[in-house]
Amino acid sequence: MNFETRCVHTGVNKDTLYNSCTTPIYPSSTFYWNSLTSHSGYDYTRSGNPTRKALEENIASLEGGIASYATSTGMSAVHAAISLFNPGDHIITGNDIYGGTYRLFAKEFTRLGYKFSFVNMGNLDEVKAAITPQTKCMWIETPSNPLLNLVDIAAVCEIAKGKGITTISDNTFLSPYFQRPMELGCDVVVHSTTKYLNGHSDVVGGCVVVKTEEHKQRMYEIVNSSGLGCSPFDAWLVLRGVKTLGPRMEAHQKNAIAVAEFLDGHPAVSKVYFPGLKSHPHHELAKKQQKGFGGMLSFDIKGGRPAAEAFFAKLKVFSLAESLGGVESLIEYPDTMSHASMTQEARRAGGITENTIRVSLGIEHKDDLIADLKAALG
Ligand SMILES: *Cc1c(COP(=O)(O)O)cnc(C)c1O
Repeated sequence: MNFETRCVHTGVNKDTLYNSCTTPIYPSSTFYWNSLTSHSGYDYTRSGNPTRKALEENIASLEGGIASYATSTGMSAVHAAISLFNPGDHIITGNDIYGGTYRLFAKEFTRLGYKFSFVNMGNLDEVKAAITPQTKCMWIETPSNPLLNLVDIAAVCEIAKGKGITTISDNTFLSPYFQRPMELGCDVVVHSTTKYLNGHSDVVGGCVVVKTEEHKQRMYEIVNSSGLGCSPFDAWLVLRGVKTLGPRMEAHQKNAIAVAEFLDGHPAVSKVYFPGLKSHPHHELAKKQQKGFGGMLSFDIKGGRPAAEAFFAKLKVFSLAESLGGVESLIEYPDTMSHASMTQEARRAGGITENTIRVSLGIEHKDDLIADLKAALG
């Protein structure tokens, strides 16, 4: 079946009693056993739940994995995936990964004895040069946040191949509709389902997708023993959201293209970061490894923070908020908001300045979005 059909149907039909069209929410913590050795397939919700299972079957199918595990947040999915490794193991990742992932790696897992190299993964020579005999993982996040730099997933997987190095992609920014890392050779995929997969800004969640029996078994043990699984109600919300993933991604992208073209060349704007623009340094790679350009873009406003503050104050349709991937358009200032946990030095080194503004395009009508930006830019 095709992608959009799987979004709507895969995993969904769990009610054989009444044949309900949507998956029931099973808020039960425990399930009765038939005898000392047999039960319905579920015994305790930390270990497994029918509503969560429906979502897991759905997302595994969309990413092309054999199983997935739905977790309470995106960060708990990152935590579960990085728990595949051991103290002393070395992990190569990007120097512009999601701030929360950076914090978990640089602080908590470094404290536990994991070793990390944060490199420019856009430069394959840097990736190769970082490999040590202890390297066990390459952690890829593409496109990056907020400047939409790309990493060549197939090339990084090729470097890792045959060296006992597991490749993991955080695919949150494009969702499986626009990018499927496993088809490019990646071993494991993680998501913050908070973003596009749910798409309605009403839940936080995550998932880990695997494609080998070994990872399936290990990931089940990690998620179950650490108690990382999401609640049945949250699973139900994400499953409701994921059914419209395809049409939503098309609408997000349509708006992103229109807004990028409007901002590109606007006299109050000095630069636009959107992989769909021909001027973007990774435009060709985006066309090769992605099925679309996504719904996120950033731009530099002329005049620094005072200009940004005045601009934000005038917006009526865009809300000043972190997060992304919802049906409503959001706009934010990485320097004091999404990337405030980085040092100023690290932000500047990564290209985030006083001018940088990040936009998550919703699914409103493009004319209203452009009119709002036009009025606010002056
Ligand atoms: C939001 C996000 C996360 C963390 O997800 P939460 O649901 O907030 O815990 C991880 N990676 C990326 C790329 C994200 O955008």
